[in-house]
Amino acid sequence: MICRLLQEQSGACIECGSTIVSLPDDAKLLKYRDMNVSAAPRDTKAKLKTAAGAVGFIGGYIGIAAASVLWPPAIGIIFGGGIATVGYATWRNRGAIADVELLPVATPKDAVEIRGIARKLSDSMNGALVEEYVIRNRYGVLLRKTNIVPFLVEAEPKLVVDGVVRVTSKPSEKKLKKSDLETLGIPIPVSGKLGSAVIREGDRVRVTGAIATEMLPELAFHRDAGEVNVMRGAAKAVVAIACEESES
Ligand SMILES: [Zn+2]
Repeated sequence: MICRLLQEQSGACIECGSTIVSLPDDAKLLKYRDMNVSAAPRDTKAKLKTAAGAVGFIGGYIGIAAASVLWPPAIGIIFGGGIATVGYATWRNRGAIADVELLPVATPKDAVEIRGIARKLSDSMNGALVEEYVIRNRYGVLLRKTNIVPFLVEAEPKLVVDGVVRVTSKPSEKKLKKSDLETLGIPIPVSGKLGSAVIREGDRVRVTGAIATEMLPELAFHRDAGEVNVMRGAAKAVVAIACEESES
């Protein structure tokens, strides 16, 4: 499984739990035919060897599984940063980044569904509560990225949503622009469509996940001693969020 969720470097993917490969900065990786670099200029291999130093920059940044026959195409992504310096256009046009199926939304077995109004936890907070971006080509998913700030769902019981989430309501789609990649902090040359689903303050939402009681001292103003119900998404036990309607 290659879930393509962009995330901070860590031992395992925060959503699917797969071991994340930290690639060696070694041009030997080029032996993988699946990289689809064959259409590149003849001297590309030599140039790539130089560019391989850039691999460490992105290495471990994308959720890909070790010990999977599916992983060589993912190397193409990792190399993206390096390719960018050696004329990646040809390479990109060949669709070197293989698309994958969208990772199914995996909520925990003891998940419950709560409906309520999404509210920010702090008045000083601006912007969206959750932003989920999915970059696709015609056939499947290339990359995903999710930004979340912990937020409150006004319901009975009132609860805080945090951790790994997936937005299940319909995203709005547009053509991916180069400036979008910069905005999203994606240092990889990809093209396709950008789907975005956003949860904002005041949205009526339906959240599905497991509820636990946590001590969140920083939230003591919401409940005595800061003890609150929290729906905290984790690997293979995410919180699914659907936006039902906007208040505004
Ligand atoms: Zn993953």
